[in-house]
Formats: sequence, structure tokens, C-alpha cells
Amino acid sequence: MTTTDRIPVNADPAVAPDAIAAPGEPVAPASVDERQARQVAEAAREADWRKPSFGKELFLGRLRMDLIDPLPEPDADGAARAAEFLAKLGDFASTVDGARIEREARIPDEVLAGLADLKAFGMKIDERYGGLGLSNLDYCRALMLIGSANPSIGALLSAHQSIGVPQPLKLFGNDEQKQKFLPRLAGGEVSAFLLTEPDVGSDPARLSTVATPVDGGYRLDGVKLWATNGTLATLLVVMAQVPKSEGHRGGITAFVVDADSPGVTIERRNAFLGLRGLENSVTRFHDVFVPAENVIGREGLGLKIALTTLNTGRLSLPAMCVGAGKWCLAVARQWAAERVQWGLPVARHEAVAKKIAFIAATTYGLEAMLDLCCLLADDERNDIRIEAALVKLYGSEMAWLMADELIQIRGGRGYETAESLAARGERAINAEQILRDLRINRIFEGSTEIMHLFIAREAVDAHLSVAGDIIDPQATLRRKARAGAKAGAFYARWLPTLTVGKGQNPAAFGEYGPLAAHARYVERASRKLARETFYAMARWQGKLERKQGFLGRLVDIGAELFAMSAACVRARAELSGPDGAAGQELADLFCRQARARAEALFAQLWDNTDALDTRAARRVVDGRYAFVEKGVLPVPEEGAWVAPWVPGPSTVEDVRRRYR
Ligand SMILES: Cc1cc2nc3c(=O)[nH]c(=O)nc-3n(C[C@H](O)[C@H](O)[C@H](O)COP(=O)(O)OP(=O)(O)OC[C@H]3O[C@@H](n4cnc5c(N)ncnc54)[C@H](O)[C@@H]3O)c2cc1C
Repeated sequence: MTTTDRIPVNADPAVAPDAIAAPGEPVAPASVDERQARQVAEAAREADWRKPSFGKELFLGRLRMDLIDPLPEPDADGAARAAEFLAKLGDFASTVDGARIEREARIPDEVLAGLADLKAFGMKIDERYGGLGLSNLDYCRALMLIGSANPSIGALLSAHQSIGVPQPLKLFGNDEQKQKFLPRLAGGEVSAFLLTEPDVGSDPARLSTVATPVDGGYRLDGVKLWATNGTLATLLVVMAQVPKSEGHRGGITAFVVDADSPGVTIERRNAFLGLRGLENSVTRFHDVFVPAENVIGREGLGLKIALTTLNTGRLSLPAMCVGAGKWCLAVARQWAAERVQWGLPVARHEAVAKKIAFIAATTYGLEAMLDLCCLLADDERNDIRIEAALVKLYGSEMAWLMADELIQIRGGRGYETAESLAARGERAINAEQILRDLRINRIFEGSTEIMHLFIAREAVDAHLSVAGDIIDPQATLRRKARAGAKAGAFYARWLPTLTVGKGQNPAAFGEYGPLAAHARYVERASRKLARETFYAMARWQGKLERKQGFLGRLVDIGAELFAMSAACVRARAELSGPDGAAGQELADLFCRQARARAEALFAQLWDNTDALDTRAARRVVDGRYAFVEKGVLPVPEEGAWVAPWVPGPSTVEDVRRRYR
């Protein structure tokens, strides 16, 4: 079969999207219904919980501080080597002209070469393959540091190592693949991760890039959108559909693809609201031969690889958010002390003071959460899928709020560009750039909406595994009856554990000193969260998965409780250090702020406008409220909202970039 004889492609044998491409014709969007899309996502889940999970227990109403306290000890040798590297990276970062990257929308070649010389492209690659073998903790610290020179550099290094070739190979690659590819990447070649397509965003079931089995490998055809590092990368992880056929189980599969293979064209470099230095591409594959030995794992495992990779890969994004928080705090502290209005430094006006306190406490709490997740990931004794997802979700949302508050604290200067400030003789503070750069974190590597659903799914897994068949319309009566018995036994044991707990004992958690009251609150709130989840399941049953407002709040409460737990553990661990007392104060403040947010979310669980909003959105889309849009120019009508891709060879000039 030639690649022009396209056939329908399957994400999963149960799913049959009809993405058929005739030569020269645009590819029709795959028609994948909601059930099929969910099946694909469900099949990609790690079904087992082989290790304990603090997050899972928290959502079940069990505060297991013993899983996170004491904090796992980092390996001393590794930490010493990392400290040396971080010192060199810090020196290097201070030589980088971040403003030039912003101005020229490009990370200069010499910066990339300097990073390669430092082995920054091999931070997460084992030493035996030429990398530095940094722990997750040190890797995140490195990203935070270099990202403070310009966030595009952090994004480049993170996309290269956290989702690009090194991480999936580390987890799923064979020895041969590791030996072949990892030394190249540790030496400075760049990698990228290509899942998204014009018609595939959050929903991978619609994937239409095809890898057709041929003699010795596969022929790859498709167009991938928004690949970070795509213009620079020489090695790509590409997700493609392998059609099911004799000898091929088919399904979405991950491949390592050499970007210099014939048929790969970098068609565009995309430009964005922020991260102007990002090297982000539209990449076309036309009849690209990929050898069979470049399949990562096996056919059909692609999405599972992507999801598992993200379990720890997700930590790099909140690292950048913590870095942003630290920077916002430094600016807020200095500026608000110096700027005098209405007879006082603006820091002394309560409205501004509250913003400063929010930035300080949130940065402390967020860093506590991130460091804890990194240490748990390095220690490998815990399942961190929920915790890593929570810190990604929370970090991206909180960093955005912190940057927004900083702009407000800076007043008009917050809205002015660094270049313009400098031209007037003022300090070149790029707060508006940081806000723009941070915005994407709420969208990529799992949008906030998708993270809510992902975490909610994991959080209710214990319920679904005992009672799933009761609410599954497809389950037979026999399965429902069996599930009924199983659920009865589970809930008879579990529900009574939610009524009383340690958090009601005024002397409990005394080891946290002045923070004990916060630990007690988390314990009580965790049981309340579990009770609310149970009520919601009993009330809505299978329809609960559609109650996204409710689920989002459940998850956000879980994030606040996890953050409070992490802050208490951090403050306790650092108590004897030089900043022990100051850390306690910030942990206390953070917990008070987080508790207020959690309480507001609890109140909104049952008292909200969710149903009205859902109905109103339907009416908006139906045009009932179109009259409200009158009075401004209409939005442009030219061009498709989503441009279909046309199979065949590229018709545009290749815009790839090589830095040496
Ligand atoms: C700067 C940048 C860099 C990127 N880098 C990469 C990369 O390196 N590799 C890569 O493969 N991709 C990359 N992406 C793509 C990115 O991961 C996607 O943008 C993201 O997955 C969201 O997909 P989408 O934009 O198509 O939004 P859509 O999926 O179209 O979603 C639109 C909106 O609907 C919401 N939504 C969608 N489905 C649901 C649902 N079931 N329930 C509730 N809400 C829902 C979304 O949250 C969002 O708010 C990048 C994108 C950008 C902009």
C-alpha cells in the first residue's frame, strides 16, 4: 500500500475515526464522539496504583502526613555535583541578555552553544549517556534559574528534556535507543515532542498523522502544530496512528524521528503573545521513513507514554512558575518600599500590602509544593501522578495571579515595557513580559480544564473501581449486581471513617508547632472533601463526569489542601535553619490564605450558577444573545477557524534553524 491510499486510522481498535485523506484533498476532521474520545483517554491511563499516593488518600479523606513527612533526603553526592553545576549555570545566566531575546524574538546561537557547553541539554540524561543525571529537584532549580534570564530559555530546555526524547526514552526506551540517541541530546542536539495537530488539541482521539507499516519500518504522513523547539530540533518524539492490520495491533504510537529525514519540512515558526524566543513549529511529514527500531515501547502505547512522561515531566512548568513568583516578590518588595503616594510608600497602603503578602505567601507555598513533588519523584517510593498534576494546575494559575498583582502594584509602570522604561531612564522591569510569558502555562501540558478532569478522574478512581459498573449504562445486570455487593462492602467500611478524625483533637499534629491548627484543618477538610465527593456521586452518578464546575472546585480544594500540607512540612523541615522563624510566619500566612480560598470553594460546591451558566452558554452559541455583540466591528470572517491540512509534499520553504 502506498501512503496515498489512506485508510481510516484508529487510536484504539474500539475507536474508528474516519480521517481519510485523498491525495491533494484536505483531511476531513476525524469524527470521534464523546464516548470514543473518553475511551481513548481512559485506555491511556495508568490503571494500577502500585505505590502509595498522598494525593489519592487526601481525596479519600485520609491525611497521610507520614507519606510526605519527613521529606525524602536528596542523594548527597548528586546534590554536591548539582551545586557545582548550578553555580556555573548561574554565572552563565547572568551573562544572557534577556531583553535582546525579547527584542529579537530569538535565543542567540551563542547562548544555545553556551548552554550546550555547560551540558544543560543533558541535565536530565544519565551520566552513562553523557548527561549530568540531575535529580528532579536540581533540574527544576536549574530551570528556574536559567528561566529567570529569559523564560523562553527555560521553556526550550524543559520541552527538550521533560517531554522531548530524553524522558520517554528514559521510561520506555530500550538500551539500543538510549545509546543511539541520548549522547547526541546530552551533547547539545535539541529535541521536541509532537502530539498536537490542527484538529488535535486536548483530545488525542482525533489524531490524523498516520504511520503506515512498510518493509523495515513505517511511513509517516501528517502535519503537527505548535511543536516547541520544532524549528531547532534534530530528534523528535512524534505521536502517530498506526492502522490496525495483520501483525500490527495498531493505535497511537510514539516514534523517535530524525528531523533531518527526507520528507520532514519545518513549514513555519509560530509567534505568540509571550515566550517570544520560543522556537515553535508547524512540521510536515510526507512519506517519511521511520525504522521499526524507532518505536518507543510498542505500537499502541503512545498516549500511555505521553501521560507517564508527563507525571514527572509536568514538574518543570511549575518550576518556572515558582521562579516567576520569586522575581515578582523581589520587584514588589523593592518598588513598593520606594514608591511614595499619598504620603506613604505604596507598600503601606493596605490594598497594596495585601497583594505583596499574597505574592510572598504564595511563592513560599508553591515552592514547598514543588520541592516536595520533586523529592517524592526522586525518591520513587510514591505515586506522584496526582501531586504533579496538582502542582502544575496550581502553579500555573497562581503564577498568573501573582504577575497580575505585581502589575497592579507597579501601576502604570507595570503596563509599560522594559525597553520603554529604560528609554525614559528608569529601571528596565519587564513585568508585562512576565505576565505574557506566564499565560501559556494555563494552556499547554494539560490546560486547566483538562487538569481538573484528569485529577478528578484519578481522585474518584477508588469509587469507580468498586462502583463503576453500577453507574455504567453499558454494564450488564450481572456486573451491576456484583458491583453493588462490592460497593456495599467498601462504603460500609469507608463512610464511618469520614465522620471523626485526628483533626478534631485539639492536641493533634503538635509536631507542627504553631502550624498544628492548619494540619488539623487539612485533616478535617480532607474528610469533608471526601464526603462531598460521595454525595455528588450518589446524587449525579454517571452524570458527575459532566459536572465540570463541581469537579473543578473539588480539585481546587484538593490543591489548596495539598499546598497547605506541603507548606507545613517545609516550615517544620527548615525550622532549625537560618530562616526558620520567617518560614513559619510565611507558612502560617499561606495556610490562612489557602484556607479562606478552600472555604469559599466549599461554599460554592452547592451554591453556584453552574446549571444557569451551562444553559446560558448554549443560548449564546445558538445566537439568542447575539444582540449584545452589537456596537463594535464584526470579527473577521475570512479564513477557517481550524485550517485542515492537505496531504502531500510541502510547498513552502523549510525554516529550520541549526545553531552549530
Ligand atoms: C506556545 C505553545 C507551545 C506548545 N507546545 C507544544 C508542544 O511542544 N508539543 C505539542 O504537542 N503541543 C504543544 N502545544 C499545544 C498545546 O499543548 C495545546 O494548545 C493544548 O493541548 C490545548 O489544545 P488546543 O489549543 O487545541 O485547545 P482545545 O483542545 O481546542 O481547547 C479549547 C478550550 O476548550 C477546553 N476544553 C477542551 N476539551 C475540554 C473538555 N473535555 N472539557 C472541558 N474543557 C475542554 C480547553 O481547556 C480550552 O480552554 C503548544 C501550544 C502553544 C500555544
